[in-house]
Amino acid sequence: MAKNVSLLNNKIWLSSPHMSGHEEKYIKEAFNSNWIAPLGPNVNGFENDLESYLENKVHVAALTTGTAAIHLALVLLNIKENDEVICQTKTFAASVNPVTYLRAKPVFVDSEKDTWNMCPELLEHTIKDRMKAGVKPKAIIIINLYGMPYKVKEINTISKKYNIPIVEDSAEALGSSYFDQKCGTFGDLSILSFNGNKIITTSGGGALVSKNKETKAKIIYLATQAKEPGIEYSHVTTGYNYRMSNILAGIGRGQMKVLDRHVEFRRKNYNYYLKHLDTIDDISFLNEPEGFYSNRWLTCIVLKTNQMRDDILKLLGEDNIEARPSWKPMHLQPVFNQYPKYLNGVSDDLYKKALCLPSGSNLTKIELNRITKIIKQYFE
Ligand SMILES: *Cc1c(COP(=O)(O)O)cnc(C)c1O
Repeated sequence: MAKNVSLLNNKIWLSSPHMSGHEEKYIKEAFNSNWIAPLGPNVNGFENDLESYLENKVHVAALTTGTAAIHLALVLLNIKENDEVICQTKTFAASVNPVTYLRAKPVFVDSEKDTWNMCPELLEHTIKDRMKAGVKPKAIIIINLYGMPYKVKEINTISKKYNIPIVEDSAEALGSSYFDQKCGTFGDLSILSFNGNKIITTSGGGALVSKNKETKAKIIYLATQAKEPGIEYSHVTTGYNYRMSNILAGIGRGQMKVLDRHVEFRRKNYNYYLKHLDTIDDISFLNEPEGFYSNRWLTCIVLKTNQMRDDILKLLGEDNIEARPSWKPMHLQPVFNQYPKYLNGVSDDLYKKALCLPSGSNLTKIELNRITKIIKQYFE
């Protein structure tokens, strides 16, 4: 009997790793050839797989983490102490931390309601206002939050108009697209993450995506301690130790085989939740605007009130189900609250009312049913 009870209450995770079964083959190859060091055939293979997935529009350098990729992107853009970098406030802290590694200053901009990503009108207002105060922002870090593409046309037009480069944080959006072009190709530089909870994982990993071979070469140079060619250890600039290891890249190669399937499963989760919960008046969903295709990394629902959100979070927790509030905006974080912010209320509202539901590509129908049943019962 006890066995049945524990089966019913199996932990349901928000977003857990989902292996394809092909990963070990590549790891074994690395062991058999003793290629355990960083660099090596799996790193090149993984980068090639990513480049062809991104339709050979870009060049990909595999790194240790998505955070490292953002850090190097800002180094490449020559961000220095006291420079201002415009950041989406509705995101995970990893998008912003690298700005402060460089002693630069984040300037936070709020979201719009259609995608939950940076509001174009507020972005332009922010740029004008900073310029009026005598500082022109040096870069814009934009997010494809929970897999939903940002408003590419509007934002990139503003970026061009003011000549401020974009770093596209696509950590959550590998497999998403905007009018049939893949996310991860829209920034002057773009980043990907392969952390354990992402759409595919290398256990830990990331990539920096650039537009040409020369930039990719420069990224690899900086990510391997900026060592000059030759056998002497000569250095003329500060380097980093950010290159992905050949073992982890092997996991990535195995994961690339199932990336599209993972997207399909996550979109199915979203559709399941939509079908079973959309009839409840107090729950709303984030629909895809025309031309937007989200990998639905996480399904988030918006409750009518903060109280409802907290109640449901608690009920799910009591049944051993991991749900989470949506990202707490950066302008509300003690570590960042001294920086300038341009707000419209959208991120504050979502912070109070949005709830991320379990969304892993390995969820079963039985698990999805267990989750939606609890939410439906709450409203009965
Ligand atoms: C996960 C994540 C990152 C950081 O990636 P890591 O590989 O964990 O360093 C950056 N930005 C966003 C929006 C993320 O969700």
